[in-house]
Amino acid sequence: MTKVTVIGGGLSGLSAAILLVSEGFEVSLYEREKAVGGNFTTYSLDSYDFEVGPSFFALPEILESVFKAANKDMNDYLEIELLKKHTTIHFIDGVKFEMMNCPIEMKKQLELLDPFAAEHYDSFLKEVERLYYEFSQIESEFHISNWMKLVEKPIRNLLLKLRPFESMDQFLRKYFKNEQLIQLLAKYANQEPHSSKTVPAFLASQLYMMLSSNVYYTRGGNSEIPNSLRKLALELGVKFYTNKEITKIHVEDQKVIGIQVNHDLSIESDCILMSSSQILSENKLLDEQLLSYEKKETFKPEETRYSQFILFLGLKKHTDLSMHSVLFSSDIELEVEQLNNGEFATNPTIYLYNPAQVEPERFPNGDSLVITVLAPYVDEENVSHRADVITYRSLLLNKIKAYGYDLEPLIVEEKLWTAEEIKNNVKKSPGKIFGFVSNAFAKAYLRPPVKSEELDGLYFTLVNTNHPSGSSDALKNGLHLATMIIADYQDKESGSNDDPEEPFIDLTE
Ligand SMILES: Cc1cc2nc3c(=O)[nH]c(=O)nc-3n(C[C@H](O)[C@H](O)[C@H](O)COP(=O)(O)OP(=O)(O)OC[C@H]3O[C@@H](n4cnc5c(N)ncnc54)[C@H](O)[C@@H]3O)c2cc1C
Repeated sequence: MTKVTVIGGGLSGLSAAILLVSEGFEVSLYEREKAVGGNFTTYSLDSYDFEVGPSFFALPEILESVFKAANKDMNDYLEIELLKKHTTIHFIDGVKFEMMNCPIEMKKQLELLDPFAAEHYDSFLKEVERLYYEFSQIESEFHISNWMKLVEKPIRNLLLKLRPFESMDQFLRKYFKNEQLIQLLAKYANQEPHSSKTVPAFLASQLYMMLSSNVYYTRGGNSEIPNSLRKLALELGVKFYTNKEITKIHVEDQKVIGIQVNHDLSIESDCILMSSSQILSENKLLDEQLLSYEKKETFKPEETRYSQFILFLGLKKHTDLSMHSVLFSSDIELEVEQLNNGEFATNPTIYLYNPAQVEPERFPNGDSLVITVLAPYVDEENVSHRADVITYRSLLLNKIKAYGYDLEPLIVEEKLWTAEEIKNNVKKSPGKIFGFVSNAFAKAYLRPPVKSEELDGLYFTLVNTNHPSGSSDALKNGLHLATMIIADYQDKESGSNDDPEEPFIDLTE
């Protein structure tokens, strides 16, 4: 039986493991943290639990397809609830705008703010949906890992349908006239702090999740998504090893032969599926010369100077803050410029996540608010940065107060994460929170390779931290990789003589 090692229990690793074990592979999953879930983590401060990571859950049909691959029903493992409204946008002039997936309600709001947009909203949604599906097709059928592929005929023809010569800003102005709405939609479609004038129009496809398909809440919290997958994987026979970091991949004659766990035990493996971030940013698992330099350069994460600044607030009561609220910057272009200059934005866009609004019984003490803004990456050694941090906390709370939410008197527990703390707590390199999928024109179409061209038996999950589509992309990615492995190993399987009773061989002995 083919032994597959999955490195990492994020959504992509879990979904791949489930499909592979369902198809008769012997699957072991190693996770360096104490629990699986990857980006889905919870941070606790006394009796307050905070969700760090994904808060939008869209396209449940993709998650459902993972359960279906194992002939199971997702509803037996997970309870999800459709959100009629998912985000309240607060503009600077006191105007509120509810983001929702109901076109009738959206058009009613647009009629007041932007009658031109109300008139063109249906065609806008249609175009966003078209961009989403056209680009998904390119991603799944033609993995574009080098520039040359862009000029090949079927890909070139598809790319031409993606408005390749148009910026996001130009695209949005065809359907909207209100400046605040244009900035809002550009910000949602373009998670990285690039100007909407410098990112391609097709990224508007990200708005499909926010506006066309539905957004859901997961009862019990978002970590229930990886937990439900882990439960299914265990039932199917995937072997889980948590608190186990893979520290080396063993290679012989250009073929992977095993892994090393926690710098110690070595275990045989026929096929390895690993997180690409390992390869490109913190590669300690493979000898440098085993991967081509050219590819590493292409997919090196951009050395951005952005990180996040997260404020966790445990409040003594529940507020009426929506599940997601966004307090807009008066000038998003200025915000991007200040971050680019390594400065804190003077009027930042603030995100507030308040899951207690949907499931108050899970938060009996009061709201567990997660407040996030983009921040420049400045290391902890920089003393003036520490002073900036205290000032910035006040700036954020004052801005929130100006919008009608005086949080300071309600705070019972509080913790602030700067770039360094994000790195230590969620193992994200500061300044690299956005992963590999760059939104800049130059790299937006390219994806790192998912199968090693140098080494037989080595596959990579694609790191995508895009919000709000990242989780469904990660699930799709895992299924896609598993399908590739199944096809690649079909022939090898039929000739295999492996002993199924002996899963581990210690290569060090
Ligand atoms: C702050 C933030 C907010 C987000 N918000 C949303 C949202 O609202 N909606 C949405 O859909 N998406 C969102 N995303 C994106 C989404 O979280 C990701 O796309 C998705 O979780 C990625 O899953 P993954 O399996 O590819 O990687 P990860 O979740 O990163 O999992 C990789 C796993 O591998 C483990 N690992 C790595 N190296 C080793 C090793 N050597 N040995 C053992 N284990 C190892 C890690 O510990 C980790 O558990 C967000 C992401 C971030 C960072």
